[in-house]
Order: sequence, then structure tokens, then C-alpha cells
Amino acid sequence: MEVYLDNAATTRMDAAVFDVMAPFYREAFGNPSATHTRGRRARLEVEKARKTIAECLNAAPADIFFTSGGTEADNMAIHSAVRAHGVKRIISSHLEHHAVLNVLKDLSARELVEIVFLDHDSQGRVDLDQLESLLLIKGETLVTLMHANNEVATMHDISSIARLCHSYGALFHSDTVQTVGHYQMDMLDETSPDFIVGSAHKFHGPQGTGFLCRRPTIALSRFLHGGGQEMGLRAGTENVAGIVGMAKALEIACTNMKNHQQHILQLKKRLMKGIIEIFPSAQFNGTSGQETGLCSVLSVSMDILDDELPILAKLNIAGIYASGGSACTGGSKSHVINALGTGERKETIRFSFSRNNTSSEVDYVLSVMSAVGTVKV
Ligand code: PLP
Repeated sequence: MEVYLDNAATTRMDAAVFDVMAPFYREAFGNPSATHTRGRRARLEVEKARKTIAECLNAAPADIFFTSGGTEADNMAIHSAVRAHGVKRIISSHLEHHAVLNVLKDLSARELVEIVFLDHDSQGRVDLDQLESLLLIKGETLVTLMHANNEVATMHDISSIARLCHSYGALFHSDTVQTVGHYQMDMLDETSPDFIVGSAHKFHGPQGTGFLCRRPTIALSRFLHGGGQEMGLRAGTENVAGIVGMAKALEIACTNMKNHQQHILQLKKRLMKGIIEIFPSAQFNGTSGQETGLCSVLSVSMDILDDELPILAKLNIAGIYASGGSACTGGSKSHVINALGTGERKETIRFSFSRNNTSSEVDYVLSVMSAVGTVKV
């Protein structure tokens, strides 16, 4: 049996998504910027997809910008804040994804901005009083805080943070890669972030396709120079098939969102209960073991023995695909787990679910974990 529980890294593309994409690699190919009929058809499909995505986020189509994924959209948002809004200070957290952290590192190394990192508690929640006292200090500021942490599931209340930022005239970008398609967004609400981002492969769409969505009136700066695509801000021939597939994937995800959430949450609870029975000293990281955590992620740390293969490797041998943390760090020790202070002698496994998982898969995982039986309890 094979069980895929690494859905925070990427999800399986929905068959219906593949079906709407396929024609654009075959008979319906065309460059959306071409003026002939075939080009105009491709343009029409790109704009239809933009409208569908906007509807899912309660945004205006003109506020959606297609990118190559979440990383590019995060980069575009942060660079826009600096270039188009004159931001000189960015407030963030050490627990952000590298798609944000490394942009901040680069901007600060080039002395373009001052970066301030907020304190956080042992579950990864940032100190909002500290944020407010920093916002009292005048100056063009961007706050960038992720909606849900991809490793430990801790969620920020982005409406409250947006309200706080806006009341002090600061911009707010939220890396929503793990929540778009899984949680309701409303970009026309004034308590929404100024920038959110989506990545199709996190909601059963194709890899290499994403978007940036801004609140109306928020200026963006040109990110990729070249042709006039994406309102002159992001040059390059559009990934037509990917964009069409992403729209279909988001439409499916948003239609059945509540059901998917409930299904996933039940699976997570089943796994948690089983893990605690097998390994009573196991600890769940961040808020992944709580109702308030991102429903799809369960991060668990367990004691390890020196002479043993990591549990993750044993699971892999048994056909169970989970991860140690973010796929982007390629297996090196997670900066998030380090920052939360999980003990050195612990092995951390992130199980991340999707609507495709089943309870018999969870039972299989538990039977394998039970057989591992070499973990100190
Ligand atoms: N931000 C978060 C929170 C993520 O989990 C990821 C991907 O794992 C990204 C950004 C990057 O997204 P993409 O893979 O689409 O570039």
C-alpha cells in the first residue's frame, strides 16, 4: 500500500483539472498575445480563469496577477511594497517560509530596508502587542506574516492583523500559500491583507502556476521586464494550460471547502489519537494538534535512538510518504522546528493531508508506526 501524506509539499492533480488543461497542450495551443483567432481564444481562456479565481477570492479580476507559483508571488508583493510604496521597514517573523525570509535577507543585505522580527511563543504565535508598539513608530512599513505555517500549522488571525496594520497606515502581505483553496478568502473586505498569494499545486492544481492578489488600489511595481503581459507588471508568455488548470482546481476546492476541511480534520484526529496511544511522549508542534491549527498539517516530534533508522525512513520503506518539514529545505533541519525549541534528541515528522486521503490509510500508517516499536516512550 502507498500512502501520500505530504500534501503541504504538493498535492495530486485532480483528474478534472488535467482534463481541462490537456487541450492547451494539443489542439487548443496558442499565444494569448497573438492577434489571430487561436491567440484570441487562448486570451479568452486566460481571462475566464482570472475571473473564476477572482470569484473564489471575492476579488476583482484586475487584481489577480499570474505568476510561476507562490514563491514568485511572495517576491512580487514584497518588492512592490518597497518599490511602489517606498517601504523602508519590514516587520516579519523568523517562522516564515524561505520564499519570504530570503527576500527579506536580500533586501536587507542591499540596505534597502530594515527588517524587524517579531517574538513568538513556543507554538509559533507572534507577539501582536510588540507589533503594535513597532507600528507606533512612524515610517513606511510592510508587515509580512503567513496565514498558516506550512510546517507546524500555526495560523495567524490575518483579519485582526490587517486591521491593526491599516489603522497605523502600514501595508500587510500574507503568505497564504497553505490556505488559499482551503480557507475562505475575501479580498473586498477591508480587513483583508493588501497582498495574498496562491500556488495551484497546493490545491490539486498544476505545479509551477500561482498568483498574486492585491486589494483594490494597492499599487504594484513591474516585477519581470519584457513584454506587456499581466498589465505590464509581469512579462512573459502566460502558462495558459497551467492558469486554466489552476482556476479549475480552485473552483473545485472552493465549492466543497467545508466538507474537505471536515474530512481532513477527522483523519488528522484519528492519526493523533493513534500516535498518542503508540508513543505517549510524542509532542505535537505549533498548533498542529489543536482545533485552531491548519487542518491539513500534523507535526509530531518523537524521541529517537542512536542506532535506529529515522522513523521517516521506515515509513518511506513501508510506502508512507510524509516529510521532516518543508520540501524546499531538502531535508536539512527545519528553521521553524529549531526556532520553536523542539529538543535535539527528537525526530520530527510532518504528516499533511488532502481530501484524497482515507481513514484506512491512516490506520495503515498507525499499524506501521506501531510495528516500528523501537522508539523510546
Ligand atoms: N509559502 C509557503 C507557506 C509554502 O508552503 C510554499 C511551498 O511549500 C511556498 C510559499 C512556495 O510556493 P511555490 O512552491 O508555489 O513556489
